[in-house]
Order: sequence, then C-alpha cells, then structure tokens
Amino acid sequence: MASPSRTAMPHQDPRARVGNFNEVATGYTGEMARREASRCIQCKKPFCIAGCPVNVDIPGFIRMVKDGDVAGAARKIKDTNSLPAVCGRVCPQEEQCEKICILARRGESVAIGRLERYCADYERDNGLVGVPQMALPNGHKVAVVGAGPAGLTCAGDLAKMGYAVTIFEALHAPGGVLIYGIPEFRLPKAIVRQEVDYVKSLGVEIALDVIIGRTITVDEMFEQGCKAVFLGTGAGLPKFMDIPGENLNGVYSANEWLTRTNLMKAYMFPEYDTPIVCGKRVAVVGGGNVAMDSVRCALRLGADASHIIYRRSEVEMPARLEEIENAKEEGVIFDLLTNPVKVHGNDKGWVSGIECTRMELGEPDESGRRRPVEVKGSNFVMEVDTVVMALGTSPNPVISQVTPGLKTHRWGGLIADETTGLTTREGVYAGGDAVTGSATVILAMGAGKRAAEAIDAYIRSR
Ligand SMILES: Cc1cc2nc3c(=O)[nH]c(=O)nc-3n(C[C@H](O)[C@H](O)[C@H](O)COP(=O)(O)OP(=O)(O)OC[C@H]3O[C@@H](n4cnc5c(N)ncnc54)[C@H](O)[C@@H]3O)c2cc1C
Repeated sequence: MASPSRTAMPHQDPRARVGNFNEVATGYTGEMARREASRCIQCKKPFCIAGCPVNVDIPGFIRMVKDGDVAGAARKIKDTNSLPAVCGRVCPQEEQCEKICILARRGESVAIGRLERYCADYERDNGLVGVPQMALPNGHKVAVVGAGPAGLTCAGDLAKMGYAVTIFEALHAPGGVLIYGIPEFRLPKAIVRQEVDYVKSLGVEIALDVIIGRTITVDEMFEQGCKAVFLGTGAGLPKFMDIPGENLNGVYSANEWLTRTNLMKAYMFPEYDTPIVCGKRVAVVGGGNVAMDSVRCALRLGADASHIIYRRSEVEMPARLEEIENAKEEGVIFDLLTNPVKVHGNDKGWVSGIECTRMELGEPDESGRRRPVEVKGSNFVMEVDTVVMALGTSPNPVISQVTPGLKTHRWGGLIADETTGLTTREGVYAGGDAVTGSATVILAMGAGKRAAEAIDAYIRSR
C-alpha cells in the first residue's frame, strides 16, 4: 500500500518574507508532527541511522513522537546530537538519512529533519531542556579551539565524560558559521544561542575574543596543563576571482557580507553599530548555499534586483534544491552560464557594473561536472552597484603557521586521521571544515564526536 504523502512544511509567504529577516519555514504543529511520524514504518533494520553522521536513533525518536512523548523524543535525539534545533533546520537530510529512508524507494521519505526540529523546538518552548547524566570530573583539562559545530560537539561530549573543557573562540560570539554565516531567516540566532547554552550547561567554559596562534599558542595551552587540544577552526578564509576591479568599493566577500548582516545585525543599523552598504542592483557570484544566502540577504536589505551569476547551468549548482527554489520564489534573477571577467567602477571608486562573458558546457572535468567554456566575443556589462563574491573558502593558516609539527595539505586543510582526527602532532586533534574544507554542519559534528572518543582513549592510555 502506498504511504500517505509527506506533510508539507508551512512557510512565510514569499512576498511578505522578502521584507523581513524572520524565519521562512515556520515549523510543524503537533498534529502535523504526529501525522508525519505515523508515516514511519519502523524498519527492523533502519538504514536511516547509518545515514546520520552522529547516529541519532531515528525510528526510536519518531515512534515517541507518534505516541505523544515529544519530550522523551527530544531527549533521545540529544543522546547523540547536542544541536538538534540547528540540525533540524539546516542539515541536508535529502542527501543523508532521508535519502536512504525505505519509503524514498517508492515515494517520499519520512520528513526526518522536520520532525527533529519539531522535537527540539517543543522541548525548548516548554522549558523542558535538562542536563543529561554526566561522569564525575576526572581532573584532566582539554582545550578546544573554535566554537562552531565541530568544537561545540567535541567539547560537549568530552564534558559528559568528565573532562574540564575550555573552548577558545576568536569572535565575540560562539557558534561559528551558525552565528556569523547562515542568515537569521534560515536559522534564528536565538536558537543557536540556546543550543550553545545547552553545551555550556554541561560544564563547558567558552573564552571569547581569543585567537589561538596569536593571543596564545597551542604549545602554551599544553604548558598550562591541557592534556589534548582539538582544532575546530573551520574554513573562513574567503577566495576571490583575481579579476580587475575586485578592490573597488562595493565589492564584498560573502564572509564579510554575511558577517555584517547576521552577526553584526547590519539590517538593524543604527540600532546596531555596524552598517552595510547595499546597492539597488546586486550581483552575487557563485552557485552554492553561501551564494543563495547572500543573494536572499540582498533582497531583504532593500535591493530592487538581486542576481546570481554562475558559470555553469542550474543542474551543476551545488546549492540545495530547496534553497534555489526559495531564492526563485523570492524573485532572485539567475544569470546562468555567465562568468565575470572585470568589475567596472565610477570616478569615485565605487562599483558601477560587472563585465561578463557567456559560457557553454564542454566535456566533464575532474569534478565530473561539465566544464564551462567561454563563448568568444560574448562580453557584456551588467549595471550593478554591489558585487558579492561567494566562491568558496579555505582554512585559515594562522595556527598551522606557528605550531611546530602541525602539517597541512597544499590547499590549506589540516592533515588528520579520518577516524580519530589525530593530526601530525601528538595530542592535537582536528575536525570539521578545518580538515575537509567547506562541508556541512553534521559532518563537522560527526568529526567532533569521533575526536572526543579518540581524545578520551589517548588520555586514558597515558
Ligand atoms: C553562509 C553559509 C551557509 C551554510 N549553510 C549550510 C547549511 O544550510 N547546511 C549545512 O549543513 N552546512 C552549511 N554551511 C556549512 C557549515 O556551516 C560548515 O560546514 C560548518 O559550520 C563547519 O563547522 P566547523 O565547526 O568546522 O567550523 P565553523 O563553523 O567555521 O567554526 C569555526 C570557528 O572557529 C573559530 N576560529 C577560527 N580560527 C580560530 C583561531 N585561530 N582561534 C580561535 N578561534 C578560531 C571561528 O571564528 C569559528 O567560530 C554553510 C556555510 C556558510 C558559510
């Protein structure tokens, strides 16, 4: 028998939402959640768990939602995932647990991510967040660098095992990309703060405004009594195209654009200190999730026309389908098979246009995607006054440059064992984007979790 169709997620109307930074998806009601939970057929051998990098007992928590024990379901998720309200909102479930849900073979998978979000929100909104069972303090200190998903997960798991953990974070707020990159309308910052508070409630200390490698070094952390160090420093170094005009006023990296908008709340200037200069015609260069976030921010910051410029076609776009659809609904203009070659400026040094060439697709390249090839003589200039470069990022070398024995790949990623996260330096572990390059929240969390187990085994062995 065919299963009933997947329960749709309610959304803010596209015309209304481009005028605000409130969350686009508004969440399931209790009735919707129970209906969706009852679609799960409770497989004896559930594949979905294997698709989750932090091994959430998916059929277990969904059964509890169906039976009306939502608080119990939230606790079950938290057994292995300390950031469920975040993961329920931003994980690419369609590529992970939901992809291998047995129902997906004949129709639509169970909406696992939406149910996870429902449970986490229910627990928080009803004041039911508690502290799990903890091991007694074991007297050993561990330092974690970076308060993104990798660092928070590693720190939380080590604290539960009895370690005294301090996270050192360069920025003035913890959360990593969750707080400075992903926009409010996809992931409200109040929710990130509450999940960070949960990690703190496990006993984790967070020291802000400390740049490891500058303020103090990894060696000094060992000298101060740390038995191990975990590096979850992400990949925050922006890339540029290296084309003429990229130094004009009005050209941003997506990092700066999103950090000003999200972390510094530039859309609420002058109530908040940091401004942002957003023109009326904005071009965002790139085709990934970061580009979609940037272009949708531009609309909300008041742009009349907000373009995506991408050198391949829509099929090759790395952004999640859902985010491309959201951007289209909101009125983003997609200039595909288009590649910038120069940014034009006016006599005051501000952007006045972006010169592009048309592209066509050739043979597949090493990534398996068809290679974009320039159409000779097809140059044209688009009139824009703001350009945002969303071309990817790489790990920052600030720590690897000053830490003896810590080796990196040529592209900048830290060399670390895939299973344990052990780097080329004894006692130093790493995980998340700092090792893989830009990836996903849940992969970073999975790496943090595995490293916590390895650090525990290492310290015990000594
Ligand atoms: C705009 C944007 C949108 C995204 N959307 C999604 C999405 O929808 N779904 C998804 O799964 N993934 C998404 N990602 C990717 C995801 O956010 C990252 O893969 C994930 O955050 C990586 O986690 P991390 O802990 O490794 O690093 P980060 O989140 O980058 O955290 C690293 C932290 O380390 C700190 N740090 C760096 N160097 C130092 C130092 N020397 N000393 C002290 N602290 C330091 C940084 O300030 C930062 O807070 C998105 C990324 C971006 C940029």
